[in-house]
This record gives sequence, C-alpha cells and structure tokens, in this order.
Amino acid sequence: MDAGWNCCDGEVISGGPIPSLDPSPGTAATPLAAEHPASGAAPGPQPAPPSVPPATSATSLAPLGDPAQVLQEVFGYGAFRGPQAEIVAHVVEGGSALVLMPTGGGKSLCYQIPALCRTGVGVVVSPLIALMQDQVEGLRQAGVRAAALNSSLEPSEAAGIWRALEQGELDLLYVSPERLLSPGFLDRLSQLPLALFAIDEAHCVSQWGHDFRPEYLQLAVLAERFSAIPRLALTATADPRTREEIRERLQLQQHRVFLASFDRPNIRYLLRDKDDARSQLLAFLAERRGEAGIVYARSRSRVDRFAADLRAAGFDAVAYHAGLSAEVRSSALNRFRRESGVVVVATIAFGMGIDKPDVRFVAHVDLPKSLEAYYQETGRAGRDGLPAVAWMVHGAGDVPQLRRFIDDSEAGQAQKQVEHGKLDALIAFSEASDCRRQVLLRHFGEALAEPCGNCDLCLEPDTSTDMTEAARKALSAVYRSGQRFGAAHLVDVLLGGDTARIRELGHSSLSVYGIGKELDRNQWRSLIRQLVAKGYLLSDAESRGGLRFGSDSLVKPLLKGEASLALRLPPAAKERRQAPRGERGAAAPTLELAEEGRERFEVLRSWRLEQARSQGVPPYVVFHDRTLIEIASRQPTTLAELGTVTGVGQAKLERYGEAVLQVLDGG
Ligand code: ADP
Ligand code: ZN
Repeated sequence: MDAGWNCCDGEVISGGPIPSLDPSPGTAATPLAAEHPASGAAPGPQPAPPSVPPATSATSLAPLGDPAQVLQEVFGYGAFRGPQAEIVAHVVEGGSALVLMPTGGGKSLCYQIPALCRTGVGVVVSPLIALMQDQVEGLRQAGVRAAALNSSLEPSEAAGIWRALEQGELDLLYVSPERLLSPGFLDRLSQLPLALFAIDEAHCVSQWGHDFRPEYLQLAVLAERFSAIPRLALTATADPRTREEIRERLQLQQHRVFLASFDRPNIRYLLRDKDDARSQLLAFLAERRGEAGIVYARSRSRVDRFAADLRAAGFDAVAYHAGLSAEVRSSALNRFRRESGVVVVATIAFGMGIDKPDVRFVAHVDLPKSLEAYYQETGRAGRDGLPAVAWMVHGAGDVPQLRRFIDDSEAGQAQKQVEHGKLDALIAFSEASDCRRQVLLRHFGEALAEPCGNCDLCLEPDTSTDMTEAARKALSAVYRSGQRFGAAHLVDVLLGGDTARIRELGHSSLSVYGIGKELDRNQWRSLIRQLVAKGYLLSDAESRGGLRFGSDSLVKPLLKGEASLALRLPPAAKERRQAPRGERGAAAPTLELAEEGRERFEVLRSWRLEQARSQGVPPYVVFHDRTLIEIASRQPTTLAELGTVTGVGQAKLERYGEAVLQVLDGG
C-alpha cells in the first residue's frame, strides 16, 4: 500500500485545542497482557498497576509518545505505510479526519497509535463483536491495555472494565454503537480523559452503500458532545457518494480526508470462462490444499452443494449462509478464524468483520452483483500483504439471472438503473482485454500507468485461435439436425457418439456425424456457448434449450467462408493437468523459502497453533505468517536479533522470544 495517495479537499481544522503530550498513567502501555493472558473474554477488573517493575519497556512509552517509536516497540514494525504517518501525526495533534484505505491497508494503526500517544483512552466504535474480540486479543498480545464493551459481557465483567477505565488503566476501549448510545453511557464517558474516537467501518452510516446500520446515524452526536476530541472515521469503501454521505452524517465536512491507493498489489486477479464451475474450482484448489480461503456462490443451495463437493474432495470446507442456524454459522466462523486451512463456502452473507489476515484465496463460482461487491469480496484475501489470489469463473449465463434479480427487486426505477449500471461495470471488467487491475482501479477513479503483471491477462498470453472451421462444423450440425437440438446432443453428433437418442433419430447418417473429433466434449461445449454469446446461435427457451441460427448477417458470411472467427477454448482434457500459468505456484507465500526454510516454517506454525489453542485465541494474534516466514528465513539466534523481525514488538519478544529460539534450535 505504498502506492500514491493524496489528501482531498477539506480544510485542515484541528478538532480542538492541541492536547499536551504529558505523560500520564493512562497513556502507558504496560504489559498487562502477560499477566492476564487474553482468554477470549474481556478482562476482569484490572487491579492496581503492576507493582513489579514492568517487564517490557512498553511502559517507557509514556513520556515519549513518539509514534515511530510506538510503531517499533509495541507493534514491531519498522516504518509506516502509505498515508499512515501523516494520519497518525494529524490525530496525535488533535485533528479529526475521514480515512479511506483498502482492506489490509492498515487502518487500525491510524487510531491505535494516536490512542497510545495521547492522554486518555481511545474509544473505538466497531459494529461486530467478533471483530472487536480479535482486535482486543491482538492488542493485548502486543502488550496494549485494551478491552471491549459489548452485549456478550456479563454485567460484572462490564463493571470491571468501567473500573479499569476510571482508574486510567485502559488505552483502548472497543464498543458497539448500541452500547455507546445506550442511556447514560456518554455521560459516563465524558467524565474520563479521552484520547480520541475512532469510528470503524464508517460506511455503515451510509444508506447508499452496503451494510447500512441505522444506529450509526446517531454517532453524529459525538461531534456535538465531544467537540474537542478528535474523531477518526475509517472505511474501505471508496465510492465518492458513500464518502460524502459519511462526511455529512458524521459531521466531518470541515475535516481532512486521507485517501490511500485502492490497489491491492499482492492480490492476483484470475478470471476464467465458466465451463463446469465445479471441476474448474477443484482444479484451481488442487494446488492450494491446506490454505484458508473463501468460495462465494450465488444461492444457499449452491453453497451447500459446493461445500459438499469440496468435502468429498478432501477439503476442510464449511458452508455459511443465512439459512443456517446461528450456532452453525458461528461455529463455521470460529473454525475459519482459529484453525488453519479451512475453506468457507458462502453467500454474500459472509463478509464484513472477517479480518483474518491470512486468507490466501477468494474464489467466485458465480458473478457478484457489481464491481464494488467484487472488490469488497476479493479484498478479504491477503490482508497480511502476502501473495493471494482472487479467482472467478464467469459465463454469459450468469448475466440474465442477475438482471432479473435487479428487475424483480423492490427498488425504485432509478435505483434499478444504478444497479444495472454497476453490473455493467462488472461485465466490462470480465471482458477486459488488457489488464484487469487497470480496469478495476479506473472504476475507482485511479489510474495505473502500466499493466500490473499480476492478473490473468498480464500473465497468460492471449490464446484465442482461429476457430472458423470448427464453428462451421457446429453450425452445420445445428442446421442438418433441424435447428431444434441442444448442445449436448449436437456434441454427441459431432463426436460420432453412440447414444440411444442418436440411434432413435438415425442421426448417425447425418453428413456431420463424427466430423468433430479434433476437439473434445468440453471444448465443443465451450465453442457452442461462445457462438450463443456472440449471437451466431439462439437458444430457444420454448424448445428447452434447442439451438437455431442467429442473424443471417452473422451466420451466412461464416458459412460461406467470407468471415473468420477467433475463440479462446479450454485446453483439451489430456492437456488439462497442467494448470494455467496464473494458477501455477501463485500465492504460496512460503515459496520464497528454500525447502529447509519451509520445514522450519511448518515447525514454527505448529508451535504457534499450540500457543493459540492454549490461550483460546486465533493463531494470527500470536504472530502473523509474515513474521514466521521472516523468522524461518533469517533464523535469529539471539533475542535482540529476533526483536528486529517485523511484527515482533517488545511484549511478544518477552513472552515468546525464548520459546521461538528454542523451536529454531530444534528443541
Ligand atoms: P485494515 O483494517 O485497513 O483492513 P489492518 O489495520 O488490519 O488493515 O492491517 C492489515 C495488516 O497490515 C495487519 O496485519 C497489520 O498488522 C499490518 N500493518 C499495518 N500497518 C503496518 C505497517 N506500517 N508495517 C507493517 N505491517 C503493517
Ligand atoms: Zn494486469
């Protein structure tokens, strides 16, 4: 995400008096995590500050409040990314802002670091409990004093958190909008020193965007009641209309907007012509066993079917859709978050709040409903910045159905128009001929000067070849058999098959019988589908899929040999074992490691899983894959050296350092 970014209009008006950066007990990041291992529940009351000398130097942050130092010592990162540094500086100085950054761009640090540098507690409004818990667990592992207040807590637990707040023992408080707006809550907050308000997933305030949450509308009250406290609204939705709605509704019009590039360079976009989605998916996944991923399908029944297919093929796949009970869904979600290598097959009901960083692929077996939806859904891959794949099969057949969904919806005429337009953008993306990423970013108002080199069109040469002769054979077969049979029978005829139907109809005596052995069944079907998509053939709904000639102006020149036709066909079955170039070896983040390094990585990974299990937290809050890969490759031999690895902050070094060195030592 280091690509260009810019600040949009909007005057710079700081949200109030510049706060002092005086040290205060409330700003110190003490290593409570070590004493209260995150257990998945909120912390109980935090007793008096630790009397023993703090185990990590995180505490020494208090008098410093220097963002770069907090970044290194607490989070273990050497440099800010993209606009982070500027946003952090702006908020530390008391400024409010709207931050637009893609998923995985690093929004959290934009408020977490200012909350640690400023006096008082940072209040983070977040719409999903699961998301809050992950964040809180991750922060505690890094030695930050964080807690979440939401409806899943017992009253006594909530009381404990309030006590900690009142004693200045928390740096970050996550809270659901419902909680924040409940009677008396804001009064109570107003008694405390507050570092900032962060409003995560701020697009929930927009009725225009997806995920509208009515209670978000009332967050405008924060601007009125806490005019001196910086407010930071964050979202991964870039659509200008949604952006304006957020600014207006959260009263941020007078404040800065930080816009990061929406490019996700680590995501490889691979699109395929839909042929047989099931076998295409299995072929794509064949090389990615053991990787965590999401497969999106259009309907509940398709989700169930694909999940069953994947399980039958030996994948650890779970289904997720709104038709399943709450328990089944939450168990699917939990397995996905806490275990490695789980594939969730889902409708679009699965999405917001999935901040698992190591999702290695997102596969679409059906077209999503817009390019925005595609971007959001694929954006859940590779949040950790390591290589990931967005794979999709698309076919002309998906489009009429999506159009019908729009037409049959309850929306007004104007809204339907908009929806059709959004679908058109997706179709244009799927039909792009140069570079997918260029089309995608152009849609979001960003220009990418050069082709990306990381999409199917950049990686795989155009393989369309002259198919005039084959197309003529197919058209002849349609004509000779009377323009009333569907593709399956026509292909049987072309291949010279011996089916009951052919015998019954006497079709083995047709002149076209058996003339098409140069292509296999799958290729013929693809060719016929493309003839339909291009208008050479029409599919007759009344005659149950029977095919007849399309317009004369197309068909005649082709049959007479006056026109030619180039098509891209799937590889023949016997060649298909070789995956297309874009799919080969893509996105195996450990690939950069030599064999031996990969073994070390696996050992570190099992160690991490053990750690995570014993604490009841997701593995990635202990260490990200990226960190384990760096450790496996650099093989540090001392704590000091280990401390320089990305993602190893002071608290984690204290807590896990010795164990990691031992694992490397073979112990
Ligand atoms: P977002 O909320 O924007 O989707 P996150 O805040 O979850 O993204 O950050 C995505 C990932 O990038 C996290 O794993 C985070 O730790 C990591 N990250 C964020 N900023 C940096 C940085 N400056 N250096 C290294 N890693 C970072
Ligand atoms: Zn490209």
